[in-house]
Amino acid sequence: MAIHPLCPVFLAALAALASPLRASPELSALVGSRLDTDYPSLDALYKDLHAHPELSLMEEKTSARVAAELRAAGFEVTEKFGGTGVVAVLRNGPGPTLLIRSDMDALPVREETGLPYASTTHTLNLSGKDVPVMHACGHDIHMTVLVGTARMLAGLRDRWSGTLVLIGQPAEELVVGARNMLTAGLYRQFPKPDFAIGLHDDPQYPVGTVGFGEGFFTSNSDSVDIQVRGLGGHGARPENAKDPVVLAAQIILALQTIVSREIHPGDPAVVTVGTISGGTKRNIIPDEVLLGLTVRSYSSDVREHLLASIRRIARGEAVAAGMPDELMPVVTVIEREAAQATYNDPVLTRRVRSAVAGWLGSGHVVTADRIMGSEDFSQYGRTVEKVPICFFVLGASAPEKIAESRSTGVPLPSLHSSKFAPVPEPTIRTGITAMTAATLDLLPKS
Ligand SMILES: [Zn+2]
Ligand SMILES: [Zn+2]
Repeated sequence: MAIHPLCPVFLAALAALASPLRASPELSALVGSRLDTDYPSLDALYKDLHAHPELSLMEEKTSARVAAELRAAGFEVTEKFGGTGVVAVLRNGPGPTLLIRSDMDALPVREETGLPYASTTHTLNLSGKDVPVMHACGHDIHMTVLVGTARMLAGLRDRWSGTLVLIGQPAEELVVGARNMLTAGLYRQFPKPDFAIGLHDDPQYPVGTVGFGEGFFTSNSDSVDIQVRGLGGHGARPENAKDPVVLAAQIILALQTIVSREIHPGDPAVVTVGTISGGTKRNIIPDEVLLGLTVRSYSSDVREHLLASIRRIARGEAVAAGMPDELMPVVTVIEREAAQATYNDPVLTRRVRSAVAGWLGSGHVVTADRIMGSEDFSQYGRTVEKVPICFFVLGASAPEKIAESRSTGVPLPSLHSSKFAPVPEPTIRTGITAMTAATLDLLPKS
């Protein structure tokens, strides 16, 4: 049967292609009413997690709480996996396996939000120093969304089929937690995921909004130290010394030409010298100067280029300064702090975006800017299993605050700020709705 271009069937088919599949009103109402019932308990959980943050690799009470909540939701829970990691599995018939990840760690920041549930926690960090602690990156939001999603999907068991693996991951802020869990055998000891999804709250988007980006989404991050060596001496006798302070200055300036002169303008890259230290007194030329760099990129090619150029420039400037071979600068890439870029699988991302838009409405789903920050969620897609991953952002600010910030030009407190204060209820509810929408689409009842 030929279809006339203006026939209603054709137009409906076209509309279905152009717009996301809408959630059925019945299911939508069911999820909404379950959220209404569950929210008071989630609010209490969020505020408790927020008031009692723990640093990376020290998430003892936090992980025990997350584990208890997931167990109570009906999941089979394993604790202390890859450190303080939590793995919760719900087998619900035949079908694919979906992994949903939340991180759990907080930061050494003194909270200045003035909220009634603000953290006043102090702890000894891994170096034994007393530091304040705050959930300044919103990982408490992520954990609450994870628990709310677990309860929701356990309650909707008759609406999906497959296996859910929910994880509470330690030490995201040190970018080692995902690797620790994967090395401990996450994909071998538990059902291997066919997809992995995760989210991060983001104060630059309004509550109720979710942002997606296909392809590279968060960056490679490398920490690099340069030990600039010289021959110390009297500050008034420079002719008898080889001055590493001047050499360090030359190196810093020459490093600025890597991104501006060597990298394709369409390839984002950053080389920042964040620390410089050397010398003890004005009239002494020191023996060395230490530089600390952060280096960001998306593709592996650009990453390799940046690191090779840093080595070449450090050495080249030392040669130009007349340093002897044995005093060439020592460039060290700190492997334990390296994070790889998150690559959002385009097919999976489109699918999750469409499912989420069907629930939240297309107006609440945006294309998010790529982030020149690191996130070890990337690791879940970088094993030999090549699991497709999708990481998206969750709006966390009141729309009027965003409007005010735009009109005044005063930026909102960012992630890691002592004043970062997401609006809990709409952020958490939207996160749970998005994760539920994604799961119902990826693990359909056949
Ligand atoms: Zn963070
Ligand atoms: Zn974070």
